[in-house]
Amino acid sequence: MSIAVVEVNRQAILHNIEYFRKIAPGTELIAIIKANAYSHGIQSVAQLLHDKVDGFGVARIAEAQILRKMKITTPIITLEGFFPHDNVWDIIDFNVQPTIHSEWQIDILNKLAVQNQITVWFKLDIGMHRLGFNLEQAKKAFYRLASCPAVRKPINILSHFSSADELTSDKTLQQIKLFDEFITSIENRSLIGKSSIAASGGIIAWPMSHRDAIRPGIALYGVSPFDKPIYELKPAMTFKSELIAVREHKKGESVGYGQIWTSKQDTKLGVVAMGYGDGYPRNIPANTPVLINERRVPIVGRVSMDMIVVDLGADCLAMPGDEVIFWGKGLMVEEIAKHTGISAYELITRLTARAKICYIDK
Ligand SMILES: *Cc1c(COP(=O)(O)O)cnc(C)c1O
Repeated sequence: MSIAVVEVNRQAILHNIEYFRKIAPGTELIAIIKANAYSHGIQSVAQLLHDKVDGFGVARIAEAQILRKMKITTPIITLEGFFPHDNVWDIIDFNVQPTIHSEWQIDILNKLAVQNQITVWFKLDIGMHRLGFNLEQAKKAFYRLASCPAVRKPINILSHFSSADELTSDKTLQQIKLFDEFITSIENRSLIGKSSIAASGGIIAWPMSHRDAIRPGIALYGVSPFDKPIYELKPAMTFKSELIAVREHKKGESVGYGQIWTSKQDTKLGVVAMGYGDGYPRNIPANTPVLINERRVPIVGRVSMDMIVVDLGADCLAMPGDEVIFWGKGLMVEEIAKHTGISAYELITRLTARAKICYIDK
């Protein structure tokens, strides 16, 4: 295949699910498949996991709609609830469980007359300060939400850590404390449903945050939420393409737009069918590695829309058609993140539709 390919190993995702089941036994598992399952393909990942997880988490109702159209019946949480211009009836039509983070949403739910009540997740802000009710507002909002006829009781409670990747900081412990304080402040215990706080970082580093449901995103795909790899996880994605040309290149000659790199010796350059048009970042430091025939070689010159040039070295045996791995098997995305200063989250989710996804099972 002469194109950029996102190769996804389904067995790796299943392995990672097993790992979460082992480290968080008895906890519900909500697989986060927003942003096209972090570029792993939302439909295929949902197909793979629909009977192996307790729920799916997405960011938008449109993502839930994709799953319902596939006839997937697994519970779906929309992590940002519904938006000001969404049609609230979509919540009912697609049977999603919205996250409720603002008074304006409660206003809408309050006026809604439905036959079947909606399962909701009340979002508590414990330190992220992005979405959710803060500790001063939360109790009143919670009771107001509970009084909406359209809302099913008990009410689930969801929160999100700001700093779960800071392993030596006590911020996460303080945020857990705030979460617990809120729960104890609700006098009417029968209104309290399931609790969920932990995303990948919390799941791996803060077991006391597991509660009733864990919400793995990046770790589901085998990528560490921290700045170092987690060896118990299996990376699912290999992002690769192939050499389309191998060229003799003279000492002192430059390559690519702006001539930003010049060779210090006679060498061979490889041209790879990959570029920022596929989602590989354009701004990367010199010598960012790729893997060709199990050998690391540096990217040279500027990344362009459709092509990337690598310095193969004068004695190389590489040929057009050889596979070039940008990350995945043999070259962890965590290493590329460290080298480029672009987080692994961003590297994997920024891939474009031109990079075709294919699936393997080994
Ligand atoms: C994206 C997201 C997750 C998953 O986060 P990871 O760090 O990728 O595991 C969990 N919960 C919420 C609310 C999210 O937005």
